[in-house]
Amino acid sequence: KTPISTNEFHPSVKVIVRIRPSNTCEREGDQTVKKVSNDTLCVGDRQFTFDSVFDSNSNQEDIFQTVGVPLVKNAIAGYNTSVLSYGQSGSGKTYTMWGPPSAMFEEPSLQSHKGVVPRIFQMLFSELEREQQMSEGKQFNYQCRCCFLEIYNEQIGDLLDPAQRNLEMKDGSKHALYIDSLTEEYVTSYDDVTQILIKGLSSRKVGATTLNSKSSRSHIIFTFVIESWCKGISSSGFSSSKTSRISLIDLAGLDRNKVDDAGRQHLRENINVKKSLSQLGHLVDTLTKKTHSGKAEQIPNGNSCLARLLQESLGGNAKLSVICSISPDNNPYLFDCRNNGESLRTLRFGQRVR
Ligand code: ADP
Ligand code: MG
Repeated sequence: KTPISTNEFHPSVKVIVRIRPSNTCEREGDQTVKKVSNDTLCVGDRQFTFDSVFDSNSNQEDIFQTVGVPLVKNAIAGYNTSVLSYGQSGSGKTYTMWGPPSAMFEEPSLQSHKGVVPRIFQMLFSELEREQQMSEGKQFNYQCRCCFLEIYNEQIGDLLDPAQRNLEMKDGSKHALYIDSLTEEYVTSYDDVTQILIKGLSSRKVGATTLNSKSSRSHIIFTFVIESWCKGISSSGFSSSKTSRISLIDLAGLDRNKVDDAGRQHLRENINVKKSLSQLGHLVDTLTKKTHSGKAEQIPNGNSCLARLLQESLGGNAKLSVICSISPDNNPYLFDCRNNGESLRTLRFGQRVR
């Protein structure tokens, strides 16, 4: 009998929803989105079921346990893994992924706000170091490198070298895509990674509008590659090697077209964001749905930068977690008062890719 790997039973796509707490402009107790059980929520009289649902009582550690811990284990086992943070502007995508930059340093008062990404690298390095210590005589060795990019209006920018704003995507050997001149940094510790994260996040493009100055109009992708070798494991004495890629993606918010003083520029941003998010939905859809022949369908040749870049990270036996962020309220006093419609759109995306 051939033992079946437990990993075959892991779903390759896991979709969770997080409802953020009400902010000071929103009316407490006026919430139209409610968690009803650990995997179900309702919006008005509509119910939606996901792999997990978190409400405003959840904390960063809860999200890490659900998304981060399995990711680290899968990455060390050699799988390509990704996290997609999806939702309307202001719904908590960036908070959940990275948390406030100052929380990445061990500042005690902010520890609880540390995002899922820094928690992932804290665990990853301690697991890698443990594995190395356990393999006596340095049988196990590894090397890690990373890059951090931004897609803004279909242009690829280097967050680690912000002067590089329009990088080219090229076909490398074995049909692998690569980005010409993108900065790649070798890292050996959690501290190395936090420095890079903080540097990259501070270079991110934010909206040029007064109404929405904080909201991000770009997709950002932090890519981390682990190469590891095990010497003398087999009786033949050959060494085995593994490469796994972790892709952490904080998407631009999909918002209704707004007419404001930034006018045309904002409209163009919105058109590009909308197009790339809809192609992303289609991409994940095709990767997860199998045809009757048992093979995954042909990946559509989407022409948005986002879909082209993610095609590789999400294909094959990759593991993907999607975090759908939701604002809790339907507040008629805010400029963007249709949170409900935006929340439904986010939930539909989550249902589609699940
Ligand atoms: P987005 O990236 O989706 O535009 P942000 O992550 O910037 O949204 O969140 C908007 C605001 O709400 C920020 O001030 C953030 O600190 C706060 N926030 C979001 N989620 C939470 C949460 N779970 N707990 C506390 N504050 C949150
Ligand atoms: Mg954001």
